[in-house]
Amino acid sequence: MTPATFFRGQRVALFGLGGSGLSTAKALVAGGADVLAWDDSEKSVEKARAAGIATADLREIDFADCDALVLAPGVPLTHPVPHWTVEKAKAAGVEIIGDIEIFCRERALLDPDAPFVAITGTNGKSTTTALIGHILRQAGLDAEIGGNIGTPILDLDPPNAGRVHVIECSSYQIDLAPSLNPTVGVLMNLSEDHLERHGTMENYSAIKERLVRGADTAVVGTDDDISAAIADRLEAGGVKVERISHSHAVKAGIVAQGSRLVRAPGGEELADLKGVGSLRGRHNAQNAAAAFATCLALDLDPDVIARGLQTFPGLAHRMEQVGHLGHVLFVNDSKATNADSAEQALASFETGIFWVLGGKPKSGGITGLVRFFPRVAKAYLIGEASQEFAETLGAVPHEVCETMDRAVARAAEDARTSAAAEPVVLLSPACASFDQYPNFEVRGDDFRRLVQERIKAG
Ligand code: ADP
Repeated sequence: MTPATFFRGQRVALFGLGGSGLSTAKALVAGGADVLAWDDSEKSVEKARAAGIATADLREIDFADCDALVLAPGVPLTHPVPHWTVEKAKAAGVEIIGDIEIFCRERALLDPDAPFVAITGTNGKSTTTALIGHILRQAGLDAEIGGNIGTPILDLDPPNAGRVHVIECSSYQIDLAPSLNPTVGVLMNLSEDHLERHGTMENYSAIKERLVRGADTAVVGTDDDISAAIADRLEAGGVKVERISHSHAVKAGIVAQGSRLVRAPGGEELADLKGVGSLRGRHNAQNAAAAFATCLALDLDPDVIARGLQTFPGLAHRMEQVGHLGHVLFVNDSKATNADSAEQALASFETGIFWVLGGKPKSGGITGLVRFFPRVAKAYLIGEASQEFAETLGAVPHEVCETMDRAVARAAEDARTSAAAEPVVLLSPACASFDQYPNFEVRGDDFRRLVQERIKAG
């Protein structure tokens, strides 16, 4: 744990005790703050009390007596409307922050030069975070990995010169971290997502930009126009920028040419991802390029980084190779909850895709994926989106299966007799899971279990 000593002796109101909120409350108490915590869920309040955290209904306290309001990242700061605690804190002139900000303040106190990598973007955050962490650990370094992925940041060991913190940051967390100043900041890409929480694309991208603006070195994916403009702006403002791309030349950084990662300028080959199953696809080449550029900025040897890439085990639910049955490959990409993500999966296979998709649809559905339809041998539709997606699929062979077990069974049967060299049964739903599952993890676990049962049965 990283005790939050910055607030020693001060009164801190905290709202949101699910997930990282409780960890933040504990870190504040361990650092000597006088914490008053609250949540709408009685169960979460009970749990905090049991952990020795003082609780109080924040409606009843005077915020003028508080030095800060700490929000869990799920609590709306601005959109669709500011949470009532936000209104109260603003009226009393009290600052509003989150756990990443608390970490930054501790780092400033303990060792402002402690290596700190912060990663954001619309897609690829978790993969890139895990990949950087993996490479650093393979190189024998002490890497603490967390933030929006897995372990809350304040549950990690405190920053110091010999330890690298590799932290995934959501836009919500960046919004609550005004002094975010990583050694290396990584912005993967930007496309429309979470606008219900940020209002406009301008607002959303301005929040993401803050993470790289405060960095000593900014690693920026320049394959979309908004991120490319951010890279130019940062450079004009004097920030050291390393650009990464899978589609065009860059002046300084790393370019993915097919499976090869090439240094720019110069054209020196840094690594070849061919045969690395966990890094299949153009999107993963972007993730690998970002990880490479980050590790170079941390002064790792290029050969050591390249070796780390080769042994990356990958993350569950993101292009996860579940196994083979005969010549058929089964891939769990349940994390693809929007069309943008599913596009990456479809782009990873040339042909012979037996595509399991559907769930709770997002606006626009799969209309943006039409150009990949020739790769699809057949689609198997589940959940609420079935009718809408069936219409978009049009002439592409498809079948409404309703549930995962039926979809997997039908797709596996069809793929078995496919003439393709390596047909793939691909779960890449392009939808949220909430109509049939509590979250994408449970959906992916269901797919994996069904596939493993089939593989076992032969
Ligand atoms: P995040 O943490 O940003 O949600 P993940 O690494 O968990 O991203 O990947 C989620 C999904 O997004 C993957 O299953 C894949 O379909 C897609 N994806 C991963 N990396 C990228 C990328 N660099 N660009 C576009 N899409 C990506």
